[in-house]
Amino acid sequence: MTVYDLGPGELAERIEGWGYPRYRAKQLYAALWGRAATYDEMTDLPTALRDRLAEELPEHLEILAERTADDGSTRKGLIRFGEQHVVETVLMGYRDRVTVCVSSQAGCAMGCGFCATGQMGLKGNLTAGEIAAQMVWAARAARHLPPSTPRRVTNVVFMGMGEPMANYRATRDSISRLLDPAGMDLGARHVTVSTVGVVPGIRRLAADHPQVGLAVSFHAADDELRNDLVPVNRLWPLAELEAAITEWRNRTHRRPSIEWAMIDGVNDSDRQASLLVPIARRLRAHVNLIPMNPTPGSTSRPSSRRRIATFADILRNGGVPVTVRDTRGREIEAACGQLRWELARVG
Ligand code: SAH
Ligand code: SF4
Repeated sequence: MTVYDLGPGELAERIEGWGYPRYRAKQLYAALWGRAATYDEMTDLPTALRDRLAEELPEHLEILAERTADDGSTRKGLIRFGEQHVVETVLMGYRDRVTVCVSSQAGCAMGCGFCATGQMGLKGNLTAGEIAAQMVWAARAARHLPPSTPRRVTNVVFMGMGEPMANYRATRDSISRLLDPAGMDLGARHVTVSTVGVVPGIRRLAADHPQVGLAVSFHAADDELRNDLVPVNRLWPLAELEAAITEWRNRTHRRPSIEWAMIDGVNDSDRQASLLVPIARRLRAHVNLIPMNPTPGSTSRPSSRRRIATFADILRNGGVPVTVRDTRGREIEAACGQLRWELARVG
């Protein structure tokens, strides 16, 4: 539990209980979320109040390590919340936007073999405050981005550690916090949740946050291969997944994304591309091809550039919009699927 777990009403209750007027809570909330300020920086609040806050509602946002890559435009933070959870968050600056990749769980129970987070298993669920507070770290870190990118966070993707739909309520509430106009005031259209295909979660997200974007990690276009790569496919096979995404699209009127890690000799064949074309067309989805990032627990390798280009061509020729993702932050193990908290390596 951190101060970031408290909403405006709960903060007001605490502070009024200490004898301060209600508007102090508003100031505090705006400072915590709108300015990403530390208590030390909240000079508009009385010193006695700041001392009491530090004492009774500690920030609990401890940066264990920070690393940078890509000439400073990619930054990875290893964050500890209280005694309990350690997670990784990645900030990526581009010419026109700054995207933060947040974690929803410490580790993950979904067991995708090619993913470093999956290889470590589930260590614990994050609270809504812990998920949202990663944006506070990011907002601070964004001030150090090079001049070639904006210096404030514009987008957030739930593509860090963990499966957001397996920690649904915290994910939902963290999104509400990030969108709050009195705080961070992020646009819902600038938030994307990535799921491995947890069907009930897709349905709930459409109902709770119809403006938020959806990315679904497919990696295979037939059940046999997908059962191997993504074990939850046994629970929610492709036909059910497709039905849920269709419902989501009808409700949100947004274009879903299909994520596909390109794994050499495994899911990068012409046949898989051809099977994907009709699925992506029916869903009117955009396909993101991610060259697989190597991980310690898997011998799988990324597909060659030529193979990725051919795969992308088959999709394009079939009328499917495709992007080949860059491999940002690979050398600091900050890329998709590489997040894996290891205290031994923090030092
Ligand atoms: N659990 C969610 C979100 C976190 S994973 C999900 O699976 O969608 C974020 C993205 O990284 C997913 O698209 C996932 O499939 C992808 N990914 C996992 N391991 C990877 C790897 N080794 N190389 C490239 N992408 C990977
Ligand atoms: Fe979990 Fe996503 Fe990694 Fe699968 S790819 S193990 S769902 S984090």
